[in-house]
Order: sequence, then C-alpha cells, then structure tokens
Amino acid sequence: MPHKVMTVYGTRPEAIKVAPVVRALEESPVLTTVTVSTGQHREMLGQVQHVFGIVPDHDLDVFAAGQTLNALMSKIFTRLDPVVAAERPDAVLVQGDTSTAAAAAIVAFNRQVPVVHLEAGLRTGDIGSPFPEEANRRLVSQVAGLHLAPTSSAKANLLLEGIAAASIAVTGNTVIDALVHTASQNVAMTDPALNEVLGTGRPLLLVTMHRRESWDSGLAAVARAVRRLAKQFGDWSVVLPLHRNPVVRGAVLPQLADLPNVLVTEPLPYGEFTRLLAACRIVLTDSGGIQEEAPGLGKPVLVLRDTTERPEAVQAGTVRLVGTDEERIVEETSRLVTDGSAYARMVGAENPYGDGRAARRVRAALEAHLGVGARLPDFAAPVPAPAPAAPASSAIAPADVLAG
Ligand code: UDP
Repeated sequence: MPHKVMTVYGTRPEAIKVAPVVRALEESPVLTTVTVSTGQHREMLGQVQHVFGIVPDHDLDVFAAGQTLNALMSKIFTRLDPVVAAERPDAVLVQGDTSTAAAAAIVAFNRQVPVVHLEAGLRTGDIGSPFPEEANRRLVSQVAGLHLAPTSSAKANLLLEGIAAASIAVTGNTVIDALVHTASQNVAMTDPALNEVLGTGRPLLLVTMHRRESWDSGLAAVARAVRRLAKQFGDWSVVLPLHRNPVVRGAVLPQLADLPNVLVTEPLPYGEFTRLLAACRIVLTDSGGIQEEAPGLGKPVLVLRDTTERPEAVQAGTVRLVGTDEERIVEETSRLVTDGSAYARMVGAENPYGDGRAARRVRAALEAHLGVGARLPDFAAPVPAPAPAAPASSAIAPADVLAG
C-alpha cells in the first residue's frame, strides 16, 4: 500500500513552492498524493494552479475580503479537520509561514498525523517581523516531525532551537525548481502594455510590495520613493505588478497612477512574472520568494523591509535591506542606477537558495521519513563567484544562468 502524503497550501507563494513537490510525489512508486487548497488567496492562487496544471483534490474556500487572521485560521481549523479525518494521510506537508501553514500543521498534529515542514528554519529572530509570518513558522517547527530546510543556515537555526539533526534534511528551495521550470517556457505577456514596455528596451525597475507590517505607513512611503525615482530617471521604465489587497492598492495607486513611465499591472501569472524578473535591471521588493529567485537571475534586490529571514543572498552581496524609508530607498536605488561599479558589486549569478533539484530531495526525505526509501545528500550552496568587473547586461537569459 503506498503511503499517502497530503499537501496543504493556500497562497500564491505556497502554491509556487509546493507545485514541484506535488509533481515529484506523483512520480513516486511508494507514495500517493492528495492536495488541499485552503483558498487563502483566491485569484492569485488560481493563476499559479493554472501555470502548474494542479487541480486541488479539496478546496476549503476560506477567502473572504477583509477577514481577520483569527477568522481565517478558525475557518481552516474547522474545514480542514474533517478532510484530514476522511483522507487519513500518513503525513501532512505544509509550506513556509502563512496562516494556512500554521493552522494546517496544528490540525494535523491534533489528529496525530506526522507534520512535514517545507522551507523550515527561516528566522528573523524578531517575533513581530515579519508579522505574522515569523510566529507562524516557529509554530510549525514545534509540531513538525520532518523539517525540510532550504539551506544549511536554516538548518543551523533549527539546531539552535533544539530540533534533532536527524529530523532535518537540507533540500534547497523548491522555488528554484519552479523558476527553472517556467524559465524554460518563455511565455508570452498577456498585457499589451507590458509587451510595449519590454519592446522599448529601456532599463527596467521592477517593484512589488504587499507586506502586512508595512500597511500603516511603509507602503505609502515606498510609493512616494518610487514616484520620485520614476521622475528622476525618466529614461527608465517602472513596472509594479500590484497585489490584490485593497489596503495595498489604496496606499500605492494615488502616488503612481499619473506617471508616463510607470506601469501598474494586475498580479502577473508566474511565468510572465519570472520573464519580467529576467528582463529587469533592479528589483525593489518586500517579497520573500523574489529575494530567492532574483539572485539566480543576476538581479540586485533592494528589500523594502528592516529584517530578513533570508540572509544568504545578503551575505553574497546580491540583496540589500533598505527598509521603507523614502529617502533611503531613493538614495540606494539612485546609486545602483548611476554607479556601474556599485551595480556590478551586487550582481552574482550563483544562487545560494537552490539548484533546481530540491523537489527530488524532498521526495526522498519523505520516503525515508515514512520508512519506504532513503534520503539524497543534502543541498550544498555554491561558493559565490567574484563580482564581475563591468555592469551585467540586463538581458540575462534565465535558462542560461540556471543551466549549471
Ligand atoms: N509572483 C508572481 N506574480 C506577481 C508577483 C510575484 O507570480 O505578480 C511570484 C514571485 O515570483 C514569487 C512569489 O510570487 O515566487 C512571491 O509571492 P509573494 O510576494 O506574494 O509572497 P512571499 O514570497 O513574500 O511570501
């Protein structure tokens, strides 16, 4: 009898990161898979499922506009519990640090089903930042029996908290598997305005922001900074695929709606977004996943947060924390635009987060955990290459960079 692994996801980044795992589990002769979408993000999740061709076996449909975190989590508790009871999985896999991951892990734990945590061990060390993600990821660590750490420093965080070494596998981050998959497809842009921007060949500043901790004043400050940058560097294009959250939209749109070289788009399907990432010259973002993807594409990232749980690319020099202070964002971005050697120092083509083979390590670790297989060797990050002497081209082909 194959062992049944239930994968639960609910937001865009979770769907992107579990998709390669679901595919790898489907190929296992000793495991079967069942997928559950909580629907925490509604439309953005649909986009990702479409790209990867995943139709969830169960959809808990918990989304409601403006609901509190507690309303969201309580719905996940009550709607996931009967699904776990009926499916009787041998393990429940959750990803990352969302309310979906934390609630699903507790539901499985209470049902005495082993919990497997994908992307385990990320920490900022500050329980309030990012909120609520840092708390969610720590909660999952408390109940998980198998911790799939993307990097050796994530493993070190878990060891420091007393998690047994034998229960940790270092797999690399599955987002790089997803990126390799979509980068090879070279998808067409559906929005004609985006095609037009790419067609101009102008240098491109790509901006994304949505973090809950910035809702009070950070988002508006970032939007003001982007406005100033767009005016100062009129020969650049700025593209901002905007999160659906109305708080985010309300803070950002008034600042940026009237500028000719700024294009605000709907959230992009994953393939289109990664194409834009590959074509841009600089990234401003508060996203976690983009901090992992951009270094492999040779793109410098200025992170619109005060903390990060992803120190590897900061150490490698590709990612810099700039926070949400308007002046600092303008200053740091301007330096990268105008100073070729500052730009060159930030660009590296090695990715400390993965090699595109994380999902097969995850599958092997799961098979070993369930007593029906053996683990693969841990992922070891490449040693960072020395910074190139001249500014890197803005047209690095993702497939070329990632091929090695
Ligand atoms: N992404 C996407 N379309 C967009 C913006 C981002 O597909 O318009 C992808 C991006 O490549 C990354 C993920 O969404 O893999 C990041 O999601 P998000 O920023 O929502 O969450 P986080 O990574 O911060 O948890």
